[in-house]
Amino acid sequence: MSSSSNDRYLGRREFLRLGALTATSAGVSGAALGQNTVPEAAPPATAAAASPASRVLGRTGLKVNVIGIGTLQITEPALIQAAMDMGVNYIDTARVYINGRSEETVGKAVQGRRDKVFISTKTPPNTKTKQGVVENVEKSLKAIGTDYIDVLELHQFNDASLVLNAELREALTELRKAGKIRFVGFTTHKNQADVLNAVADDPDKFFDVAMLAYNFQSGQDVKDAIARVAKNGVGVVAMKTQNGGHKAEALGGISPHQASLKWVLQDPNITCAVPGMVDLVQIRENVEVMNSLKLTRVDEQILERYAEAIKPVYCGLCGKCEPGCPLGVQVSTVNRSLMYAEGYGDMALARETYHGIPSGASAITCGDCADCTAKCVRGLDIAAKMRQARELLG
Ligand code: SF4
Ligand code: SF4
Repeated sequence: MSSSSNDRYLGRREFLRLGALTATSAGVSGAALGQNTVPEAAPPATAAAASPASRVLGRTGLKVNVIGIGTLQITEPALIQAAMDMGVNYIDTARVYINGRSEETVGKAVQGRRDKVFISTKTPPNTKTKQGVVENVEKSLKAIGTDYIDVLELHQFNDASLVLNAELREALTELRKAGKIRFVGFTTHKNQADVLNAVADDPDKFFDVAMLAYNFQSGQDVKDAIARVAKNGVGVVAMKTQNGGHKAEALGGISPHQASLKWVLQDPNITCAVPGMVDLVQIRENVEVMNSLKLTRVDEQILERYAEAIKPVYCGLCGKCEPGCPLGVQVSTVNRSLMYAEGYGDMALARETYHGIPSGASAITCGDCADCTAKCVRGLDIAAKMRQARELLG
């Protein structure tokens, strides 16, 4: 978001008032997020959590510290090691992140410390066969350089019917028996409540871990579904916790990210959050939350301002608009691509995600209808977003 557009949403006087509040009451870092280098004004190295808050990951019994690290954009093992030094013991990666480099980076980072951390990785999206799952797990083991994966997740369960897929279960059961994976999970980005409720209703209680997008603007349906799966022994890991990771400049230099994480962790059914991090500033800022999870009134005010600032661009990735599009455009994935560009500032990731959408469901398919029938529950102008994606990423 440009500074001029920021000014449209937050008046300078409001920035200053909130800044004063934050500086005196909350100690929230104003460090910009989304940068790939350590700025001169990096926060002091006081973030290491002396006694990190931890929770048990459902029926796995794993004792996980509440801030894990997402490695979607990390290619430096030293960054992961720094996070581990500060108290992080849950590392999240995926077969497809940076074309396999993320897993390799995780492998290098944990050399000599493998038994001190839990690693979760994921099969590529659309891996729907037993052979595909097994082959990809073998590739993950090799890339990470480990004998076992703590949590293996099937990536992007966006359709509740996948929950009971017998072939996928057979693959995971065999891998578990062979000792190559310890626990099984899935990720979900859209139709999340439906998928979680299907898992909660599963009489076999097959899945041990659920990873989903969850933040302070998530709907009550998702919150309720999280409670249901947690009650059924499923450990819940939260991703996309910072609403697109929009830079602190969007709030006049006030970072919303600690407040965002604290909000997520107020929910006792969330075991840990795994925000993506790309530099030491972000790692320190996020890890510091483990020292105090209390959500203050100032944090709440920051989140109110953050919500206001990102309202014109933020897509909750819920997918509820998609049935309304006669051409089958995958609006939420197109918008996720835009989020990587606008929020994360990562054009390569944005383009990779965008070009991974089947051509018949991409923004290029959007007919720019005079009256777009895909209605957004948040009031976004979907046709305009699709135009923007074509121009930026097409
Ligand atoms: S404008 Fe695009 S997204 Fe909206 S209904 Fe038409 S084709 Fe679908
Ligand atoms: S555009 Fe709106 S309805 Fe569609 S996925 Fe995003 S938030 Fe949900």
